[in-house]
Amino acid sequence: MADLWPGLDGPKISYISPPPSESWRRMWPRSIAILGSTGSIGRSALAVIEKYADRFEVAGLSCARNAACLAEQAARFRPPCLAVLDAAAAWKLRDLLPQGYRPRILEGAEGYAELASLPQAGTVLSAQSGAAGLAGTLAAALAGKVICLANKESLVLAGDLVRGICRRTQAAVLPVDSEHNAIFQCLTGRGQEAANLLLTASGGPFFGKNRANLADVTAEQAMRHPTWRMGAKISIDSATLMNKSLEIVEACHLYGVPSSRIRVLMHPQSVVHSLVEFDDGSLLAQMGAPDMRSALANCLLWPLNKPSGAPALDLARTGQLTFHEADADAFPALALARQALSGRGGLCVVMNAANEAAVELFLRGTIGFLDIPRLTGAAMREHRAAHPHAMGRPFCPPLAAESLSELKNEVDALAARITRLDRHSRDMVCQLAKKDGNK
Ligand code: MG
Repeated sequence: MADLWPGLDGPKISYISPPPSESWRRMWPRSIAILGSTGSIGRSALAVIEKYADRFEVAGLSCARNAACLAEQAARFRPPCLAVLDAAAAWKLRDLLPQGYRPRILEGAEGYAELASLPQAGTVLSAQSGAAGLAGTLAAALAGKVICLANKESLVLAGDLVRGICRRTQAAVLPVDSEHNAIFQCLTGRGQEAANLLLTASGGPFFGKNRANLADVTAEQAMRHPTWRMGAKISIDSATLMNKSLEIVEACHLYGVPSSRIRVLMHPQSVVHSLVEFDDGSLLAQMGAPDMRSALANCLLWPLNKPSGAPALDLARTGQLTFHEADADAFPALALARQALSGRGGLCVVMNAANEAAVELFLRGTIGFLDIPRLTGAAMREHRAAHPHAMGRPFCPPLAAESLSELKNEVDALAARITRLDRHSRDMVCQLAKKDGNK
């Protein structure tokens, strides 16, 4: 199986985790817990699971507050365990479940962590939105699960930490994010010949617009993604290209490569999901209809290749495929990832948190579209100025714990540190925005 894996500890690719165990690979049905089952990724995953009902058992489902959707999913899949954000959502959920079905209902960050480490579930789909997904990913990694990772923020905030845990617990990571899944497929058996990784970016609804065009765009316009239907946060991130910035960091951590070996290629048709450039200068691309079920089926059924329910790609009907350089002036968010990665010292945490806070302000109409990358960059500069000695150093030092219980305590302490910086960065953006408003 090692030859299917992108390459462990190699000079060209040092993948974040070892491959799943032979027993996981052979075990059917696979028992799965889903963190974030009511979001677009969670719903697509359940569509794949329903298509292969004899190959999966749903051990747990969870969401933040969408109790009505979760109740409907739970009634259909009957998992023994559910998790929601708080007591209010739990009450609502209990009311909506069918008579005679009484699953355990877990609450809050601890509840998600428990759902991610259910003993019966060998597979965890980490598909919550934003920094909130970190706790579940860390819990799944500590419990040695096979993690189908859709929550890119887990790696943006704590890539080194996830890597360190996977090496200890033999947890495995399969990338769901379509670009990273494409690269994963292109690297099969050829990881140590890979020169560069090429991430494609659709450019979102504002592809081709210049900076002046973007000054007054509304949240509604920014949400209108031409090819992908997604949640609000990731739709705005796609419009600013911050999503691609986060994906650069995600790729660095997944494949163990410096950001200098990652290129971004604008490709508005979203048919080429990403590419790998090999030592001889040739490229291998993974193509398909823009439908998340493909990447999900690739991870959930790995290493089997089966129809996902997504339509097959008919290139003769697809028409022209175009590729362009990114416009750094109109989309300054794209440059932030490389700054954050080179500065280290928690700058990736600041970048992600500041962007999340700025997107919320934009969705509320408090700030403009171009203020999102401006405030994110400003928060990063403030952090750099306030902590000059932290720059150049990893925010999470290498794990030192010997036993598994010590490891858990050490990871908890580091996660708490990340959370404190995350909160502080969000506050910083709100203060910067307020200052702007008072001018
Ligand atoms: Mg993506």
